[in-house]
Amino acid sequence: MSEILGPEGLPYIPDDVTVVQFILDCHHPARPVPKHPRAWLIEDATGRQICYDEIRARVAGLANALRLRCGIVEDDVVCIFSPNHVDYPIAIWATHRLGAVITPANPSYHKDELEYQLGITKAKVILVHPSNYGVALAAAQTLGISSANVILFDPLPNESAPAALTIHNLVEEGLSKPQSFVERRLKPGEGKTKIAFLSLSSGTTGRPKAVCIPHIAPIANCVQMAFASKANEEYTTWENRRYRPGDVELGVLPFYHIYGLVVVMHFALFCGMTLVVIPKFNFTEMLKSVQRYRINHMKIVPPMVVLLCKHPATKNHDLSSVKMIMSGAAPLSAELIQQLTERLPNAGIAQAYGMTETCTTVSWPNLYQKIGTPGSSGLLLPGTVARVVKEDGSLAKYGEPGQLVVRSPAQALRYLDNDQATKETFKDGWVYTGDEVIINEQKELYIIDRIKELIKVKGFQVAPAELEGHLLDHPDVTDVCVVSVPDDYSGELPLAFVVLSEDAQARVNADTAEVDRIKAALMKHVSDHKVQYKWLAGGVEFVDAIPKNPSGKLLRRFLRDRAKELRAGK
Ligand code: AMP
Repeated sequence: MSEILGPEGLPYIPDDVTVVQFILDCHHPARPVPKHPRAWLIEDATGRQICYDEIRARVAGLANALRLRCGIVEDDVVCIFSPNHVDYPIAIWATHRLGAVITPANPSYHKDELEYQLGITKAKVILVHPSNYGVALAAAQTLGISSANVILFDPLPNESAPAALTIHNLVEEGLSKPQSFVERRLKPGEGKTKIAFLSLSSGTTGRPKAVCIPHIAPIANCVQMAFASKANEEYTTWENRRYRPGDVELGVLPFYHIYGLVVVMHFALFCGMTLVVIPKFNFTEMLKSVQRYRINHMKIVPPMVVLLCKHPATKNHDLSSVKMIMSGAAPLSAELIQQLTERLPNAGIAQAYGMTETCTTVSWPNLYQKIGTPGSSGLLLPGTVARVVKEDGSLAKYGEPGQLVVRSPAQALRYLDNDQATKETFKDGWVYTGDEVIINEQKELYIIDRIKELIKVKGFQVAPAELEGHLLDHPDVTDVCVVSVPDDYSGELPLAFVVLSEDAQARVNADTAEVDRIKAALMKHVSDHKVQYKWLAGGVEFVDAIPKNPSGKLLRRFLRDRAKELRAGK
């Protein structure tokens, strides 16, 4: 099998506009009229509707104030440290108007984790939700970011707290003053190199890195997804499409992750859909929102599918408005697709595959099939080319496993300031995904294993190297290797194999009760400093040595198999 091409017929992808110009200003032939009168955004809790004119004005005001007050100029980096919020897209696009860059951070991060992201991206401004204000201020102080550049999404609830500025204050100020900047426009082709986002991903190995995503990447991915099914006549008009103007999309996946940022937020607005913005996932509250706003499209992750299948509340809510459920970010089993089909017989159900480095979607279900082929992650998007590379470097045949290597107009450029990692993942214009796949003769993609170190818990990235580095700081640990164990709900959970220090080993030898005490202390060491999905919920196991190959590389696969056996009681 040679290279496999996605379907033909991809329309023109503009390479001379920024993301904000693409979404708010320009008329693309692949897009319905963008200024439709319906709400673009709905705030879930209040029902507040935000339409195009208001969005445009808020973007203009915020951009002006970010320049005037925070001194943001071209290529400066602005960090968004917030759960989903109706001003999230506004903050992104205001930053883009200035030619500056967004780095979206996980709102559950602890101080060390945020500091790490702010440090590697050299962010100058933090736009923060009130609930994260303390963490943001502390991290800003360590890094020498002025507290005046820590701007709130909403006012602080506590009146005695310092009077920090909010995005709303900045919007009003920006709108009341003459425009202080000239909007950054791109020369033809510049969209391919001008950075729009620095999103974190750990890639093949090591700690999280900032992925350089150019403006054209999310733009291209929106056009690719919209045209994934163009070959079928039925889908050539917007009215007949699966995703069409006036439909309502669920905005519960976090916008800081590439899936929420591109496939939920930007794709929904590109298609003229209304996005219901939900800050925090709570299953029964989410069902209420689906019912209240008659939501048509749900982009979710496998643990949410598990809940839809098994939670009794699913049956007590009217979900008849749901037309399509798309799962991504982690594998969805054939059994779950089957169960969900039985629970929601009127909805289309399928899964897609993508990654931060490919910004975002690589394969997408065939939307004329109501139910995606169980186990499959769909078909390549138009404009995407794939190779399946075997261990010996040759190309696999249809049905043979190998590493997926892709090229697409949506792919990222490189890792920021990390040549070594860039060389491993971005080679000669191709992205080495680190995923083992099979593509069958029908050109359906099946993800069968992960070759890279990455662990995915509920679809969130956990970089083993990050946890290993942190555990090595503990005085009881001499060596460590973190691997995943399978879990029905979360998909995977991190487990640490630990070689104890001499002192800790002596304590264990003297008193076996020390085993549990040390395990608990190591788990706490992680939970005190890391966001919850990184906690060692898979457990801690003591070993005499971490197996390594002659060049010192950890034999992770061996330990991953050992972890599976241990959890299976062998
Ligand atoms: P992220 O960059 O956080 O989106 O993580 C990307 C990784 O998630 C991929 O390289 C895969 O390992 C995994 N992934 C994403 N979608 C799927 C899927 N449908 N099935 C299996 N694994 C997936």
